[in-house]
Amino acid sequence: MPELPEVEVVRRGLVSWVRGRTITSVDVLDPRSLRRHALGPEDFAGNLEGARVLDVVRRGKFLWMPLADTPAPSGSSVPSGSSVPSAAPSPAVALMAHLGMSGQLLMQDPGVPDEKHLKVRLRLSPAEGMPEQLRFVDQRIFGGLFLTSLIPTDDGGPGGLAETPLPLIAEEASHIARDPLDPYFSFEGFYRRLRARKTGLKRALLDQGLVSGIGNIYADEALWKARLHYARPTDTLRRADALRVLDAAREVMTDALAAGGTSFDSLYVNVNGASGYFDRSLNAYGREGLECKRCAAAGRVSRLLREQFMNRSSYTCPVCQPRPRNGRW
Ligand SMILES: [Zn+2]
Repeated sequence: MPELPEVEVVRRGLVSWVRGRTITSVDVLDPRSLRRHALGPEDFAGNLEGARVLDVVRRGKFLWMPLADTPAPSGSSVPSGSSVPSAAPSPAVALMAHLGMSGQLLMQDPGVPDEKHLKVRLRLSPAEGMPEQLRFVDQRIFGGLFLTSLIPTDDGGPGGLAETPLPLIAEEASHIARDPLDPYFSFEGFYRRLRARKTGLKRALLDQGLVSGIGNIYADEALWKARLHYARPTDTLRRADALRVLDAAREVMTDALAAGGTSFDSLYVNVNGASGYFDRSLNAYGREGLECKRCAAAGRVSRLLREQFMNRSSYTCPVCQPRPRNGRW
């Protein structure tokens, strides 16, 4: 499953290929990938054909493309009055891409044979030296594409990371908090809401309403780096600890981003079709029974534990991330 750095890699790749181009035609090869678009494939294609892609925006793992020049016919899922004259500065509609477990967005030339799990093909207006097709490929069909409305953000800040940030957010993403890579992320707001919850720290880090984009892998890495146990109660967490774990999450995600994303799923490839690669070593995740690197550097021997957590696993060092007596799970 792609984590935030992979989705950001996709966003950066995609925006350089699609920004400013018009969608000239749409082929829906498998309607199951449009099941989140309630009005079906014809409505989906009818709204996209002729639309211009303005940008690619990301908040957490949500990715969307604001569109200009959408027809928005009556009865469409897109609200009335959302037809955007070319002169209007604010788009009202966006194409949402939900990558799910195995969704891929590939730029391809028309001569490239269809991928085995090709679901949707968008043809784009010609652009010098750029592939003509944007393909959505998805083996497990948990992902999909759909159209959504853009609504004003709660705080008046940009909807997410973008080339030309607008104070608009895709409706489906409006319930999630900003992610740690977002320059508008507010630590004060995060800490206040964290203290108000009676839960464990890792559960809070995975709560998209509190902070978005931190998945299981990065939560374990951030907790290890901050020397905090996943069951630390949030209502008594000190400010310095909260700051340390947030900074740690930002650091591990920034490192992964610099390495082109950290993919653990061989199905995942980035927007250019090249496999996402992973060449940095993790410190906690997947290291059950292996020595803690920090303890080893201090001349101690401590082996990482794997424990069941929310139907997944948590990896911790029993020495430098001691279990709290009053832990919450
Ligand atoms: Zn350790």
